[in-house]
Amino acid sequence: MKVVVLVGGVGGARFLLGLKAALGLPAVGPGDGLTASEHEITAVVNTGDDIWLHGLRICPDLDTCMYTLGGGIDTERGWGRAGESWVVHAELARYSADLDWFGLGDQDLATHLVRTRMLRAGYPLSVVTAALCDRWRPGVRLLPATDDRCETHVVVTDALGGPEFLDRRAMHFQEWWIRHHAALPVSEFVLVGAELAQPAAGVREAIAGAHAVLLAPSNPVVSIGSLLAVPGIRHAVRTTPAPVIGLSPIVGGRAVRGMAEACLAAIGVACDAGAVAAHYGARCAGGILDGWLVHTGDRATVPGVAVRDVPLLMTDVAATAAMARAALDLAGLRV
Ligand code: GDP
Ligand code: CA
Repeated sequence: MKVVVLVGGVGGARFLLGLKAALGLPAVGPGDGLTASEHEITAVVNTGDDIWLHGLRICPDLDTCMYTLGGGIDTERGWGRAGESWVVHAELARYSADLDWFGLGDQDLATHLVRTRMLRAGYPLSVVTAALCDRWRPGVRLLPATDDRCETHVVVTDALGGPEFLDRRAMHFQEWWIRHHAALPVSEFVLVGAELAQPAAGVREAIAGAHAVLLAPSNPVVSIGSLLAVPGIRHAVRTTPAPVIGLSPIVGGRAVRGMAEACLAAIGVACDAGAVAAHYGARCAGGILDGWLVHTGDRATVPGVAVRDVPLLMTDVAATAAMARAALDLAGLRV
């Protein structure tokens, strides 16, 4: 069975652990190579969060997926490396050259050094990612949404000294999200570079050739939304013969983790499982969904979208595997 999952960072990576388990693969690592051949999971990973810092290319969502599935993630934080040290960060601070809002640990830096060296040598991000995965062996094919530079920026409105001095300025998504804790009012998300971007090699083919396409319970705006804004990806999802099933990241009217509320508010979508489904839309009505899973007790009514309610809390791998099975079941697939 070939399953394609559209994912962001932490929510996407945790969902992939459960999907692997649901397909009989070890959640972490590559498996023994025998069971692995029976099912193929391809994750199309958001690259809108990617950023150049200190001359290095950082790909937070790709790395979160790679470290999580490869067993190297700091499970407490949900991002970065387990057992991390911060020697370089501290040295940079002594030069007043650190970014105090973006921590790059020593082990993590090695990933960015290797990635940047390969990019500078001319390899596309998809090839670089495959090379990094030779070490991490995530047991899932990780494909960046695009090999092109296509970054989410946020247009914020600052009331400097009062509403008469409204100032609009754009900043990289990471600065808004991490430095300002998504607290500055947003007038717009802009995907800089989207006009010229193309899906990375293999993305369109994977979506077209899948038995099911799943939308992980990732941020609908800055993870799934940024990924779908790469020209060609939305079209691939709209036209695949496979059923497209989404899982709600909103449970009981709240984001389970993180600050998705602020992102949804900025695009005028209520923080509600039904509103997110309506935002994605039914495939039969120009949208992307055939099915939508909401948490037990939540509701969604979108004509043309089959809705089921099941527990949607990724408390452990077993609970997450049950979510993945429910999504495959709604897609008409049995595992
Ligand atoms: P990020 O790129 O690291 O922000 O991660 P994602 O975009 O992949 O995932 C973030 C989203 O995951 C948030 O909007 C959360 O609401 C959602 N999320 C996190 N944990 C859970 C969970 O246990 N259940 C569900 N349904 N959603 C979750
Ligand atoms: Ca992210």
